Amino acid sequence: MEKSISNRFYFDYNATSPLAKKVTNFLPNGDFLFGNPSSLHTQGKNAKKVINETSHFLYSLFQLKESDYYLYFHSGATESINTIFKGNAFSLFKQKKKAAFFFSQVDHAAVVQCKDDLEAFGHDVYFFNVDKNGNFNCEDLISQMKSCSSKGEQLFLNYTYVNNESGIVWPLSEVIKIKNETSCYVHVDAVQVVGKIYNWHQLSSDLDSYTFSGHKFGSLKGIGFSFIKKNSLFEPLIKGGNQQNGMRSGTQNALGIYSLKLALEEMVALFNPDELKIAKEKMEMELMKHIHDRGEIVGLKNNNRNLNTIFLVMFGQKAEILSAKFDLQGIDVSTGSACSSGVIKENRILMSMGYSFDDSRSSIRLSFSPFMKLEETDLYLDKIKKILN
Ligand code: PLP
Repeated sequence: MEKSISNRFYFDYNATSPLAKKVTNFLPNGDFLFGNPSSLHTQGKNAKKVINETSHFLYSLFQLKESDYYLYFHSGATESINTIFKGNAFSLFKQKKKAAFFFSQVDHAAVVQCKDDLEAFGHDVYFFNVDKNGNFNCEDLISQMKSCSSKGEQLFLNYTYVNNESGIVWPLSEVIKIKNETSCYVHVDAVQVVGKIYNWHQLSSDLDSYTFSGHKFGSLKGIGFSFIKKNSLFEPLIKGGNQQNGMRSGTQNALGIYSLKLALEEMVALFNPDELKIAKEKMEMELMKHIHDRGEIVGLKNNNRNLNTIFLVMFGQKAEILSAKFDLQGIDVSTGSACSSGVIKENRILMSMGYSFDDSRSSIRLSFSPFMKLEETDLYLDKIKKILN
């Protein structure tokens, strides 16, 4: 379905996705819901109505109760992650309380980069490691958390449900166990969940907060949402006109918010995880056979992997060169980020998983459309194999 975009093949869905058809069909109608949802006139009410509709839709889709969770809209996961952790750090700082934040080495930069600010508020930040399969040691983490809580520190954990680079899934059951044993506050980074795993919309009401970014599943950019448990800690970072119960002041982006509903409706209607699984497994098997001992698929031995991501390390190859080859062949893939001299930097996630510096600069991430079909794979494989020769 998403086979070709502007005559190119786009395999970078973990970075961002094209707009959902329902969104592109809505936009030419020109009803941009421009009214300020806080205004009392008709245009304002129209905007407010779609925001309310979208909120009800999100609660029902993600199976969380309005009586248990607040829902607030923001510009995307980076903003919300910063708000949740730094807001709580600031609030505890004002109460002269100390907190211990637990992040993994493979969390997104939006989480990892909070470290300095959290420490500036006098809190501790700990990073836990993962092994080559992307798993962490749950018992070790629990015992480290318990030792901090025995010193009276308030515990916070960021839990990346699906890793954006490796596609490795950490089941919610695991973090519920951690929460039960330590009473820590749990934020779930659910950015990479939608259309990438089975039962992506089944959230658990045992956890404190969940964050999503709309552009990862076909909504407009600059819009995201988070569920925050009503009895859990929350201190807004962005203050002003008191919109959204004061959780995130500023005029709401009604069009962006509505695009969340449109894109998610489309996902619910069209996503077929069995179909994606078969297509991805075929891609993976064929690629593995083709590259043989010239490279490997990251986390291949892990049974908990998502349905759309193949993260390859090509031994001895330079990501810059791979990147150029894919680009010339009209394929968009992720090969890491470049530093100012144009050289691809080492991949932090691979380094934390125990790969060497050189291997961490030889990766390609293919992240496919949630709607990829088996019959498309031969064409893709043909092109990719030629590039990897
Ligand atoms: N968390 C994860 C797991 C992500 O993949 C991303 C984006 O790549 C983010 C957070 C940040 O999302 P955004 O760039 O939409 O703010």
